[in-house]
Amino acid sequence: MLFSYSSSIITNFFSKTLIRPHSSHPVLLCTMSLNSHAFAGNPITSRTAKSSDPFSPQSAFQTLKTLLSTQSHDPISPDFKILPFRKGRPLTGSNQPNWHLGWLSLGDFRAFLEKSEVGLSENSLVYLGCKYEDDVVYWAIDVSEASELVSEFGDRQFCFVELRTLMVATDWADSKAMGELAIAGHARALLEWHNAARFCGFCGGKMVPMEAGRRKQCSNELCKKRIYPRVDPVVIMLVIDKENDRVLLSRQSRFVPRMWSCLAGFIEPGESLEEAVRRETWEEAGIEVGEVVYHSSQPWPVGPASMPCQLMVGFFAYAKSLEINVDKKELEDAKWHSREDVKKALTFAEYKKAQETAASKVEQMCKGVEKGQSLSADFNVESGELAPMFVPGPFAIAHHLISSWANQVVMNGTLSNL
Ligand SMILES: [Zn+2]
Repeated sequence: MLFSYSSSIITNFFSKTLIRPHSSHPVLLCTMSLNSHAFAGNPITSRTAKSSDPFSPQSAFQTLKTLLSTQSHDPISPDFKILPFRKGRPLTGSNQPNWHLGWLSLGDFRAFLEKSEVGLSENSLVYLGCKYEDDVVYWAIDVSEASELVSEFGDRQFCFVELRTLMVATDWADSKAMGELAIAGHARALLEWHNAARFCGFCGGKMVPMEAGRRKQCSNELCKKRIYPRVDPVVIMLVIDKENDRVLLSRQSRFVPRMWSCLAGFIEPGESLEEAVRRETWEEAGIEVGEVVYHSSQPWPVGPASMPCQLMVGFFAYAKSLEINVDKKELEDAKWHSREDVKKALTFAEYKKAQETAASKVEQMCKGVEKGQSLSADFNVESGELAPMFVPGPFAIAHHLISSWANQVVMNGTLSNL
């Protein structure tokens, strides 16, 4: 069955639509609910407790330290749940149609480690957040060194799955599943940052985790430099022509055939977001941009390993010129696409089918039937055989920039989303 990325989903995504006053362009300003984008809307990180609160990083860490030193198995309040990662992949289980994270109790986790003769120190656990209503504090841990755990967990139908595969396998209409994906993304970003930030950039001393892994500090008493988890901002823009009839989409050589997407680029030091949008569009496509309008943003913890979490900041960028001059070092091609062609691309791409296929592959992996660990390449292809082109799936902010433009209509001189 072909899946059409229907207008009802778009309406749900955008909770408020405003016409921008004094704008030279018919612009939609959209505010989005927190759960809109993949990796946003994490259900367990929103609270910052006072340090005396038992759910706070400081108090929970002290409790953890006591539990590990006394080897106590008594029930505690709040309860602790632990999510193991191996090489950036979270432990995952599956109850079709949805995958779920492989949370373990502290007791179970210790039992696994004892079997594998791996020691556990409080400094190897990273605080993720808490849920007061469930009386639980959540932790993540990197167990990449303990390869024996793979078969131990495999016996219980859990396996470590690539985050990109989980991203494609997540049903974006299911807020619980989207919440699980956001937790996995946050945890992976923190653990990858811990792995990359082992030594002090000032004196070369060893960096040690502080505040239950929420920051790090140089162990050299003369230095004590503090560092915090890294976020790399990226602008991503849908460039729209003066008439609001066509958009500029581009192809990179790494894209699968027929896929087109928005321009994007890193922000340079000393540059505003708007300046970055204009500079990148000029450098990559030779187009002059005038007005720049914010759309929404998306955490992106599945980029290169050197950047544990990018923040994609999305804009509509209104072109002042039309002639394209592609920088072939950056892009394979860039072209103006009509609204009709973009709508066709959105209608015929088989996003739902790709998601369901990925979800069933994850289940096969958890059952031990499928051994492959990196399915992301296959499932970046939202095949769309009937369409001459397609755009990235609903897990990417590019999709929402493109679909919200494609589905906007002018009615009696005012704009609204269909
Ligand atoms: Zn230092």
